[in-house]
Amino acid sequence: MPVLCDRLLKLKEIFNSKFGSIPKFYVRAPGRVNIIEQDMLIAVEPVKTHTLQLANTNPLYPDFSTSANNIQIDRTNPLWHNYFLCGFKGIQEHFGLSNLTGMNCLVDGNIPPSSGLSSSSALVCCAGLVTLTVLGMNLSKVELAEICAKSERYIGTEGGGMDQSISFLAEEGTAKLIEFSPLRATDVKLPSGAVFVIANSCVEMNKAATSHFNVRVMECRLAAKLLAKYKSLQWDKVLRLEEVQTELGISLEEMLLVTEDALHSEPYSPEEICKCLGISLEELRTQILSPNTQDVLIFKLYQRAKHVYSEAARVLQFKKICEEAPDNIVQLLGELMNQSHKSCRDMYECSCPELDQLVDICRKFGAPGSRLTGAGWGGCTVSIVPADKLPSFLANVQEAYYQRSNRSLVPEKQSLFVTKPGGGALVFLEA
Ligand code: ADP
Ligand code: MG
Repeated sequence: MPVLCDRLLKLKEIFNSKFGSIPKFYVRAPGRVNIIEQDMLIAVEPVKTHTLQLANTNPLYPDFSTSANNIQIDRTNPLWHNYFLCGFKGIQEHFGLSNLTGMNCLVDGNIPPSSGLSSSSALVCCAGLVTLTVLGMNLSKVELAEICAKSERYIGTEGGGMDQSISFLAEEGTAKLIEFSPLRATDVKLPSGAVFVIANSCVEMNKAATSHFNVRVMECRLAAKLLAKYKSLQWDKVLRLEEVQTELGISLEEMLLVTEDALHSEPYSPEEICKCLGISLEELRTQILSPNTQDVLIFKLYQRAKHVYSEAARVLQFKKICEEAPDNIVQLLGELMNQSHKSCRDMYECSCPELDQLVDICRKFGAPGSRLTGAGWGGCTVSIVPADKLPSFLANVQEAYYQRSNRSLVPEKQSLFVTKPGGGALVFLEA
């Protein structure tokens, strides 16, 4: 891996000029739609003091230093070092440690930030693995993924855990189906005649600095509670839509029918939700909603639940098609990706005009399927492209989306590239 090797040498040099010493080890963790050369890389040296010093090769991210015994995560202003602190604190708390040793860390990331490729989770996971290694402790990949999923929530985003799971459980050469309760990853063999291309809309959306993401999580949470109540389940403990399905022991298709019976397509007001659940507005705010969604006035419960259950069904269909590998596999997978984008756009409302335009351009130039990837509201699309059409696809999309505007200012490599499944997070010793 010559590219990685160059990066390690560069990191060693910058580390030496910052901290006056040589890193003891390095940790890397990939983003999601996991790409071998796009990852978070951290050079680490444990120190005898209790000071945690963080530096970054990118001058946009200023140096930071804190006592390892007093970690404060600022969710009102999610500066970069807070993501590191999430992973650090998660491991610290897991082992019940209060007196952690300090370290010097130099971070070098090349995942486009706030673009739906999970740069944030790669940083949290990398920091978690760094901390574990410094402590000389061991955890399984699944445990690490669960701890990091939980600890990224310290930043204020109510993420589900998909990003952290794939960052640890990824394996080179195979896509993974991620399932929860219990967390597990199953291989999905992608078709050999096609490639997956990531195209960045160049619209950035920081998930912790805005409330869009959490509003959707809360809408899903409320929809789950109303569905549970409708089906006479114990609704107060229910947080996720999947739990209702599991509890009822029915298929996703049946769950879609229940949703149609139980919920109406007109948006719900906080008052109506309180009435349905038999709780006060105060209880809704303090016991169910997150701090940054307290003042939301409109909840589209029906649309969000329909999106989530239909998307889950599409994921299973995608896996089934990959297993059966029919002749028109690329076409079929592409159609599912198109349906997925439509549902994200119309039912979950997490797309944006630039993403819709980019998806259209990708389809026009030979992708049987194209959709937004990650949380949405900006960031990247992923398209399935028959391998023989790749050169013309790249050239045409480059011309139609990037060259026609000042978007080509973004380095080309970060805007439009082919991706294949890469390996998960790991520790290594030498540059
Ligand atoms: P994403 O979709 O990439 O996960 P988020 O909005 O969740 O987007 O997180 C983006 C944040 O992650 C950035 O604002 C920054 O604080 C942090 N981040 C991303 N890349 C780096 C990096 N190379 N170094 C330090 N922090 C980074
Ligand atoms: Mg993120």
